Amino acid sequence: MERIVVKFGGSSLADAGQFRKVRAIIEADARRKIVVVSAPGKRRPDDQKITDLLYRCHTLAASGDDFTAPLTVIRERFQEIATALAINSPVAAALDELAANLSAGCSADFAASRGEYCCALLMAAYLGGEMIDPGQCVAIGGDGGVLPQTYQSLDNRFADNPRLFVMAGFYGYDGAKGPGAVKTFSRGGSDISGAIAARAAQAALYENWTDTSGILMADPRLVYDPKVIPEISFKEVREMAYMGASVFHDEAILPVREAGIPIRIKNTNRPQDPGTVITPKLSAATLARTEIAGIAGKQGFSMISVAKTMLHHQAGIAHKLLGALLRHGISFEHCPSSIDSISVIMETSQLADKEETVVADIHHDIEPDVLVVEHDLALLAVVGEGMSSTVGIAGKVFGALAREGVNVRIINQGASEINIIIGVAADDYEKAVLAIYMAFTG
Ligand code: ASP
Repeated sequence: MERIVVKFGGSSLADAGQFRKVRAIIEADARRKIVVVSAPGKRRPDDQKITDLLYRCHTLAASGDDFTAPLTVIRERFQEIATALAINSPVAAALDELAANLSAGCSADFAASRGEYCCALLMAAYLGGEMIDPGQCVAIGGDGGVLPQTYQSLDNRFADNPRLFVMAGFYGYDGAKGPGAVKTFSRGGSDISGAIAARAAQAALYENWTDTSGILMADPRLVYDPKVIPEISFKEVREMAYMGASVFHDEAILPVREAGIPIRIKNTNRPQDPGTVITPKLSAATLARTEIAGIAGKQGFSMISVAKTMLHHQAGIAHKLLGALLRHGISFEHCPSSIDSISVIMETSQLADKEETVVADIHHDIEPDVLVVEHDLALLAVVGEGMSSTVGIAGKVFGALAREGVNVRIINQGASEINIIIGVAADDYEKAVLAIYMAFTG
């Protein structure tokens, strides 16, 4: 039985109108048999997400304050949906139980998980499906990742059962404590739940329904109406996500990637749009057609550079430099070097109040001729698997930056040649993204 797992994000479930769209999408393809839901999100920019309200309830309860106000907002949101869809809501009882648990000192994870739990109850009632509570079958380890026994438990539920299942996203149980001890993934974690369900069901496809028509080539806050990427590889999407593109939860890629299941990002509000396919292997057509997949970037980086004559002749300089960072628990992003100098780039927040002591340690360990710390840097990643076999990509990137007068501070290209990392002053960041985007699309 070929099945598609469909995951709907918070904006796709924000009100009764969105629930109706979800039903129409599921009914349009008989293979859509496993539905994974987030908690209802914002209906308008100034609205509140159910998950945020639940955390608020927990914070108030934990300090002995009255949590009735946010809990009432949550009750009303769910009741409004149930009334509009004429469902005899199973949610009221679940929220009464939550109120009792909050008063009894339940965990923040348990409180936050009730958004997805109630949403799945409501959606299962609306679609006539079987609800799956991941608090009983999705085991989460100490590092926040899924534990392997999960796949067996979910497979036992799905088996060859042709029923429609509705599973709550975002949470599971603490693998160290056992079923029932609710533990959540990181925020936005319903993407991970969908990926886990897809892998357990050996789905033909994992559809991730959201409010954009796919992954964009560049940040829409910096580039007006950027193009949608029709096809992108798992490797490329990881690079884009790591470098700040809000595409898809990073950790959600692993379960499906290992199983070779493609993901399609779709827009609940425009189901006719093709969206973006994330695939284990790019098609020959995509490789022939595209020079780069997209551009991502982040601000807020700092760079520590040391220079010392004959540095390249001395063994262990990099080891000492990185060792000093390690002692202070600082992880670094890149480490470009030249004959007599070496630099490390890290998020400025990592240095925070440690800068003085870190610098003193490096002086002590390396005795450099010069040590410079620079802040306010931005990093850009130009991502594309086709890069390694196409001549002239770097020329196009740097030509575009030069024409805009952007001074390139750092260049880093890994051996995998799937991206070029460029460091620029924070003030040049927006100009740089736009210049590169235009060079490849204009
Ligand atoms: N509801 C959770 C959050 O807001 C998880 C999710 O939406 O994926 O983070």
